[in-house]
Amino acid sequence: MEFASLPPIIEHVPAVVFRLSHKKDNWSTWFVTQNISMYGYTADEFMSKTKNWFDIVHPDDRVYVSKTVSDYEAHNINFFKLYYRLVKKNGDTIPITEYNTVNRDEDGNILCYDTVILSNSDNESNQQLIDNHYRQQIVLNDILMSLHDSDLDHALQIILDRTGAYLDTSRALLFKDSPDHKTCKVVYEWCNKDISSVMALDYSITYSTGMPEIYIALQTTGSLLVNFGEIPENCKEEFDAEGLIASAIFAIYLNGDHYGFVCFDDCVIERKWDEDTVRFLKNISNLISTVLVRQNAAEKQKAYEAVLNNMESYIFVNEQKLQRIIFANRAFRNAFDMDCIGKDPALYFSIDFKQKQEEKGKTTYPEFYSEKTGKWLSVSSEQMTWIDGNKVQLITAVDITERKMMELELIKAKERAEESDLLKSSFVANMSHEIRTPMNGIIGFSQLISKEIMSEKGNKYLNIINDNCNMLLKLIDDIIDISKIDSQQMKIALQPCDLNNFLDELYIFYDQILSKKNKVEFVMGEMPGHCANILTDPIRLRQILGNLIDNAIKFTDVGFIKVDCVISGDGLIHFTITDTGIGIPENKQKIIFDRFRQVEDDYIRNPSGTGLGLAISKSLVSLLGGTIDVVSTSGEGSAFHFSIKYLPVE
Ligand code: ADP
Repeated sequence: MEFASLPPIIEHVPAVVFRLSHKKDNWSTWFVTQNISMYGYTADEFMSKTKNWFDIVHPDDRVYVSKTVSDYEAHNINFFKLYYRLVKKNGDTIPITEYNTVNRDEDGNILCYDTVILSNSDNESNQQLIDNHYRQQIVLNDILMSLHDSDLDHALQIILDRTGAYLDTSRALLFKDSPDHKTCKVVYEWCNKDISSVMALDYSITYSTGMPEIYIALQTTGSLLVNFGEIPENCKEEFDAEGLIASAIFAIYLNGDHYGFVCFDDCVIERKWDEDTVRFLKNISNLISTVLVRQNAAEKQKAYEAVLNNMESYIFVNEQKLQRIIFANRAFRNAFDMDCIGKDPALYFSIDFKQKQEEKGKTTYPEFYSEKTGKWLSVSSEQMTWIDGNKVQLITAVDITERKMMELELIKAKERAEESDLLKSSFVANMSHEIRTPMNGIIGFSQLISKEIMSEKGNKYLNIINDNCNMLLKLIDDIIDISKIDSQQMKIALQPCDLNNFLDELYIFYDQILSKKNKVEFVMGEMPGHCANILTDPIRLRQILGNLIDNAIKFTDVGFIKVDCVISGDGLIHFTITDTGIGIPENKQKIIFDRFRQVEDDYIRNPSGTGLGLAISKSLVSLLGGTIDVVSTSGEGSAFHFSIKYLPVE
């Protein structure tokens, strides 16, 4: 436990005060009070190093003084007196008493001496004052020494014990306020011999009714001093109740808030509080506040530690400026280093924590693999105020190994799937060609046989074979196309095409087919007219139109099927195939462009078909630089519209 060094012992004393440090007999002056002039010297002489303290010690006393100082130092005695003769500037000698306090750092190294020089001929009251200070300093030192060895719970008891004994008062009590500051209760107590305990009574006192005068004093000036024989009228009842004849009461604060008060009560000694003792008691109450702040911080720290230690994530607190770990939770210590406190986090993380830390919110670092733990970690940091009030980084490293492994596995699986998909598609594309060849043989030969067979039944069967073969051929063609699209083998071959001729041929072909279906007419609607020589892939364009018109024929029993073709100024040709067929319900209009999707899985509605035609058409349209969609009303008909890009042939 560290305590700030207390004020130098003597501040208001009519004596010369030095603050000194030394290397052997070479003394330097940190400061000296102006009243050194009483011995004929000036403060400047000491500050400018023209003189030093040892110079004014009588030459015959120097060996004794030097030896005594080093003896005290060696035995860690921090308060001691020296008696020697001082040589005044005019050469006169004068016997003096020197009171010394040694100030040390936390490790016990001597920082400086506070030295008070008092002429032995000085009047008695000054002598008395110095003696008092000296004794008080010993009490404070005694308290501080015992605090170093004890835990915080005992610290407050020690303070009351030592101070009570020093004052030889009746009781020293520490009262703590209730959270609403309306009542208070004794939490620590020291009682002199034969004095009964107040704490044992264990009662709360209500400020407003039990001690109004004290309450007002604590809230306003922060203290109340009651001398023997001077008990204020409205305090008499309170004092009588406890047999008090004098008391000194001081407010105690915790982090700027009222904590309660400490009081030193006299039931025996007819005390009159002098200024010097009051100053000392104020120091004591400050010391109590310091211990309470520490106690509070220690409790908070324990709570923090308990929470953080229960977390599975690796958590540590980094002092950003110094890059050192000041706290690490159990998980972190177990996984990384049991002895990590004070070390640089760079030892464990390949992350630059020095980089800018967001004032608010999280800073997230790239995920990384930690060799030390064999785990993937996701690390983030947040700025926070640590228990000591300093701004620190709270760094959390979450184990994401499982997720990371799954991600890596997924990437591999996806790569494998893509690879096998590509292989499958090109296999199907190649195989389908092989299947097509014998199919063509079957169709060709069944047509030849039909000429040889004269029976009606035989011909009927052959027609069935022929129809089935054609269906199979269409299916194979569709599968070849889909596979080519998937394996990115479907290529567009641009060539000049006279659109008018192209459409004429389309008309001749379908008009002839529809003439057999006598209730449906094939109509050419708006046509491009002149100068329709364009660069496109006529085979794929014919395939798209074929798919759409074949569908229209399949689903139209009465009315017409119409083809419109319009060239727009933006380099697009628009085709619309309208029919008066059964139409497509609205909720199905999107899905029919997906593979194997039909409006209903209903053979009656869909006498033949694979559900691939529109999917292929959509891909081909897209390869030709356009889009396709449908407008349809169930029971009234459909209009498929698509566009393709074209280049005019000069
Ligand atoms: P299919 O080979 O089954 O015809 P498509 O992809 O060409 O496959 O068409 C998908 C589905 O869209 C069809 O099965 C049918 O239900 C519907 N469909 C396509 N065109 C029309 C149309 N002109 N009228 C009504 N329904 C249609």
